[in-house]
Amino acid sequence: MRPIICLELHPLCPPPLTKEQKESPVVTSAFKTTRSQEFFQQAKELMPGGVNSPVRAFKSVGSEPVFIDRAQGAYLWDVDGNHYIDYIGSWGPAIVGHAHPEVLDSLQAAMLKGTSFGAPSVPESILAQMVIDAVPSIEMVRFVNSGTEACLSILRLARAFTGRDILIKFSGCYHGHGDMFLVQAGSGVATLGLPDSPGVPKSSTANTLTAPYNDLDAVEALLKTHPDQVAAVMLEPIVGNAGMIVPEPGFLEGLKALTQKYGALLIFDEVMTGFRISYGGVQERFGVTPDLTCLGKVIGGGLPVGAYGGRKEIMNMVAPAGPMYQAGTLSGNPLAMAAGIKTLELLKRPGTYEYLDRITAKLYQGLLDAAHDYGHAAVGAQVSGMFGLFFTDKPVKSYEGARTSDLKKFSRFHRGMLERGIYLAPSQFEAGFTSLAHTDEDIERTIAAARETLKEITP
Ligand SMILES: *Cc1c(COP(=O)(O)O)cnc(C)c1O
Repeated sequence: MRPIICLELHPLCPPPLTKEQKESPVVTSAFKTTRSQEFFQQAKELMPGGVNSPVRAFKSVGSEPVFIDRAQGAYLWDVDGNHYIDYIGSWGPAIVGHAHPEVLDSLQAAMLKGTSFGAPSVPESILAQMVIDAVPSIEMVRFVNSGTEACLSILRLARAFTGRDILIKFSGCYHGHGDMFLVQAGSGVATLGLPDSPGVPKSSTANTLTAPYNDLDAVEALLKTHPDQVAAVMLEPIVGNAGMIVPEPGFLEGLKALTQKYGALLIFDEVMTGFRISYGGVQERFGVTPDLTCLGKVIGGGLPVGAYGGRKEIMNMVAPAGPMYQAGTLSGNPLAMAAGIKTLELLKRPGTYEYLDRITAKLYQGLLDAAHDYGHAAVGAQVSGMFGLFFTDKPVKSYEGARTSDLKKFSRFHRGMLERGIYLAPSQFEAGFTSLAHTDEDIERTIAAARETLKEITP
């Protein structure tokens, strides 16, 4: 095996980019993956599957990942010198574009003061105030280091507050990798918690019940069967982790009414949708206020952050104000706070969400038309800077519907787009993201690449 450490001058390091590469956002020469393949082989010996988060390995599209060297604005450059228009945006955080100069300046200024204090600092209060001002359900917030941590903590809090144990979640919704969230949704209305991964004891998921998304009757049936036992109904108010699925009119309102009727809390997991669907998230845009909200991704501006919040009466149960324990060595980290504050400031400027909506709608319509023009069944959704397309002719209202998609076709589409310099999420079951750095020209190039790719694929 070749040496592993990639120092500035190490032969395995990517070559410095030429001026032309830096300036041109799309692939100009033939697509090459020699170095990515080499790095991936090496990485597989060092880290499970060669990655630190599974979907990055491109397994679900039956291919291999490219190794990213650098990101700027809407673009990525890989170690072979290919460049891409990026629609993953680090899975959501890069909403103002990668390496935004103002975010980098803020980080630089913060870094000069030290990288972690493990003590109270003012930037925490600034970001907290911004989150509280923006998100309707949040009167008080606690910062953590990831979305997973936010979800774990919020469930503990819901249980502490209600004195009840059961969680109702929805199939296809992802709430991080905590044991109690890793429950497979079986067929039928309700599936009693069976773990989705080895290593998760049955006892950890015994209190997790699952309903199909957009199915209020299924939720009410569960609430009725378990009177006074359900602590919370938790969902992605727009699903991004089963592909993109939007709530049908009345679904979120219905959940609010049901949770109130049965004394459970309503939790919106807005880790993905917070500050993306609108500045105040899905809850602001759709006008339904949950009891508790998880955040992550965008609020860290590309650094590791999560947060959870809600009404003061509930949040005051969190230690040290109250008895529910939750802590973190690096929580409220000054660099993460600085990146988050600047990112929210940029998002708050007038016209940002209108811009995201406009370019993303144009992209979504272009992709849908391309699919239909070449005879492919396709449906999907788009709200603000988030979009998704399923290769199926059935309407997709839940994960069960999403699973009717043609995954082989998606894999071919994904590869064709990658080779044409368009970096899409490597799974049919992931949403796509745009940013303020994507231009009309980027969108047009993307649609053109999609037309070429879809033309090649037999319907
Ligand atoms: C990404 C995500 C999480 C997990 O966040 P991590 O930072 O990856 O731990 C939880 N919930 C939703 C809705 C997400 O999209």
